[in-house]
Amino acid sequence: MSIRQPLIESGPKTGETVEGKALKLAKYSVGTGDRFAHQAKAQLQACMQALEAGIEVVPVWNKSNREHSIIGSEPLSARQAADAAVKALGWKHAYYLDADHITLKTVGRFLDVCDFYTIDVADSIGEAAPAAEIDRFVHHHPELLGRIELEGATEAFNLTSESLRQTAQKYLAAVKQAGEVYRTIVNAKGEGNFIPEVSMDETDAAQSPIELLIILAAIADEGIPVQTIAPKFSGRFNKGVDYVGDVAHFETEFALDLAAIAYAVSHFNLPKNLKLSVHSGSDKFSIYPAIHAAITRFNAGVHLKTAGTTWLEELIGLAEAGGDALALAKDVYAQAFAHSEELCAPYATVIDIDKGKLPSPDEVRGWTSEQFTAALRHVRGAAAYNSSLRQLLHVGFKVAAKMGTHYLDLLEANESIIAKNVTENLYERHIVPVFLGSKV
Ligand SMILES: [Zn+2]
Repeated sequence: MSIRQPLIESGPKTGETVEGKALKLAKYSVGTGDRFAHQAKAQLQACMQALEAGIEVVPVWNKSNREHSIIGSEPLSARQAADAAVKALGWKHAYYLDADHITLKTVGRFLDVCDFYTIDVADSIGEAAPAAEIDRFVHHHPELLGRIELEGATEAFNLTSESLRQTAQKYLAAVKQAGEVYRTIVNAKGEGNFIPEVSMDETDAAQSPIELLIILAAIADEGIPVQTIAPKFSGRFNKGVDYVGDVAHFETEFALDLAAIAYAVSHFNLPKNLKLSVHSGSDKFSIYPAIHAAITRFNAGVHLKTAGTTWLEELIGLAEAGGDALALAKDVYAQAFAHSEELCAPYATVIDIDKGKLPSPDEVRGWTSEQFTAALRHVRGAAAYNSSLRQLLHVGFKVAAKMGTHYLDLLEANESIIAKNVTENLYERHIVPVFLGSKV
């Protein structure tokens, strides 16, 4: 297997692929989704702006098997789009291509082109592990029993052998599964030639910080040098809209997760750069101040994962352009409205659409550019913003995919107005509040 060489000829940078040197994800990284492979440059521009503001935020282009299937694209197209953007803008820092939410079944098509793997084991949570393995795990970790003081946290963890056993019963099979996927990737790419993430977010129940610590102990036992971990946090992380839940509770939980990670790094010999990955992280404006405050306090990194927010900026840019492009944006809405059941079904656990708040396609047909963009653009507190319409369009990218070249031609014809929206959204509304720490 050949190793992808960096496009930029210069000294080694954080995370760069260099023979004999393991890839190491930088402290701050942003996951970006580029469904139609046309916005990589505009997204990278946001990272360039962050650099100008004095902070390195490394881009990770993520696309799941589900997205590729819906769009009808191959992982290679994402690789080409990312490489071309890096070359065009002369980005000299690291960047990655994430095989998002892969399992043993789906990892195959991503092995050649990706260098970041989000190993999804949510479906295996709760599966029974053999009793002997549970016993071995519990006996192997006497240090987890009793009181565990965490640096920087006001609370301590308290574990009995019974609760350790129960948690192991819940997660051990999932972690073993992650190990199998990890070793499959190692066999294909070689150790150190990719960033491994383990994700458990696509499940109903949140993982508590103490469960996270136990999961990390099991991941270490399994020999996975995990660099990012995506737990399910409490509260709702609906697609493309704000956090729904108790922000103060989230803040406490997030800080304890950071403390658990710091403890796991020093006690289980996990990579020093191990950090939290916040999935469905786009547009969670109300928790960004808490995330920023916590990572600052713990001197921790974070991976903020966004995806569909960029596709919505494509629609906003098209609507803003007016004419044929606005008409197309309205068509996308009309068709998404007509097929809402089918489009929403795969995303049922991550959207909350109030059907009573959806305007009729006829009404939208009569909208100006300003009316369309004001309803769709996610600006906190804006009166015309409609989160139900936004979520419906979020899951409606299949409609645009079916339009094929008609959609892509209009993207290309209106590149600059779309790019402006994509960059501004990623930088002003995501990178600034999370990594630089100003208010949205
Ligand atoms: Zn996820």
